[in-house]
Amino acid sequence: MPQLLEFRNFIDGEFCQGTSGKTFPVVAPATGKIYATAYEASRADVDAAVAAAKAALNGPWGKLTLPERTNLIMALADEISRRFDEFLEAEIVDTGKPKSLASHIDIPRGAANFKMFADTIRSAAGELFEMETPDGTGALNYSVRKPRGVIGVISPWNLPLLLMTWKVGPALACGNTVVVKPSEETPATTTLLGEVMNKVGIPKGVYNVVHGFGPDSAGEFLTQNPDVDGITFTGETGTGEAIMRAGASGVRPVSLELGGKNPAIVFADADLDKAIEGTLRSVFVNCGQVCLGTERVYVERPIFDEFVARLKEGAEKLKIGGPLDEGVNLGPLISQEHRDKVLSYYSKAVEEGATVVTGGGVPEITGENEAGFFVEPTIWTGLTDDTSVVREEIFGPCCAVLPFDDEDDVIRRANDTKYGLSAAVWTENLSKAHRVAGQLDVGICWVNSWFLRDLRTAFGGAKSSGVGREGGVHSLEFYTELKNICVKL
Ligand code: NAD
Repeated sequence: MPQLLEFRNFIDGEFCQGTSGKTFPVVAPATGKIYATAYEASRADVDAAVAAAKAALNGPWGKLTLPERTNLIMALADEISRRFDEFLEAEIVDTGKPKSLASHIDIPRGAANFKMFADTIRSAAGELFEMETPDGTGALNYSVRKPRGVIGVISPWNLPLLLMTWKVGPALACGNTVVVKPSEETPATTTLLGEVMNKVGIPKGVYNVVHGFGPDSAGEFLTQNPDVDGITFTGETGTGEAIMRAGASGVRPVSLELGGKNPAIVFADADLDKAIEGTLRSVFVNCGQVCLGTERVYVERPIFDEFVARLKEGAEKLKIGGPLDEGVNLGPLISQEHRDKVLSYYSKAVEEGATVVTGGGVPEITGENEAGFFVEPTIWTGLTDDTSVVREEIFGPCCAVLPFDDEDDVIRRANDTKYGLSAAVWTENLSKAHRVAGQLDVGICWVNSWFLRDLRTAFGGAKSSGVGREGGVHSLEFYTELKNICVKL
């Protein structure tokens, strides 16, 4: 049997096993086999990581000038790019996602997140108000931004490097230090980033990694440590609620990027080629494990049958397989547990009266990936708006397609959810596009596209899909403390 890889905690610039004496297996989703073991951090290890991060704020890191600090952050991006192939291999084994996807999205965006936030902080403006005073001499009010302190970063498994650096990038650019708890499913690239930190000369204690689970493990230990000054989290809405409660102790701010049940609305005047291509991506990319992905597709009745037929044709052309298989564009789900969850919705859909247009089961895979966590891309029609399949986040390669007749009614139906992350509107009518996009209760609404991301824009969810906005200068709201200095002249 090949030697298992080992993922250690990274505390105060050193890789270490920690003190819990516990390890957990890390499974490659494409093969279903354990390929690595990770060292679970104890509460004492997490506390040591937080103490190191706190000390680093007042060490060499805290004394760097802005150009010195941002040059180091730029160097991180360059070093990730130099070690591109290692990051790529680590990410695709850990997640099972196709190499073509990880090489175009996950790793390049992982590096870009550092560059973009270094640029943002270099050019971030302050504010100044001249004030009149009764004695006529006046006063000047100006603002300065200070790092918030030690940031706890808790990240999910669906885009491990991308979503983790989306937080670590701005946190470090703003002068904070971090303790990261990656998902227990995908510890690889977060660990590898520790090596990059040391290589480029990021001072010890600035970036720390603790491995483990959520409740009664590293995730909870991190949120409970009172020296953590802010917690940024991406994951499920239920976990976000637990983290918000933990943040309440000590009145510490949280930034939450949570779940979704995102609608697409396809009007009869849409460019159907574009709408089909975009919807195929938004439903199936990353095997449906994208928070912004579409799970409800509302199609105007005159084009309903044609749309469903063409979506089915596209779904059936998807090639399922392991990350390195030629031409593959649909990988496995992340775990056996998650596959059980997705398959439970495949059964529920039928119980709730769906017509299965395509898929609905587990594909036959032979060879080294035969025990991988694959499911078939699945499309349903015939479901009503009150079914669990139409209301609950599934996070798999599947969607319900539902007809509509009236613009106001489809807006109401799209908004009839506790979530409010994203939406896609497909129409060639400009006025209608603006009108509908403006009325959807979401953090981001695409018109005639999906997942087109300008990293300078505000990103986050409405309703139960999140708290706060990150991206561009909006990230400064969470990662810095804005201080007003009032000078009487
Ligand atoms: P999850 O909530 O199960 O886990 C996320 C992280 O939280 C993991 O690292 C986990 O160990 C940790 N955790 C769990 N319980 C905890 C606790 N009580 N205290 C501290 N940490 C805890 O989410 P997941 O299954 O990894 O990710 C999928 C979910 O993430 C989906 O709901 C998806 O929509 C959402 N998501 C949202 C966005 C966004 O930007 N809004 C992006 C990606 C994923």
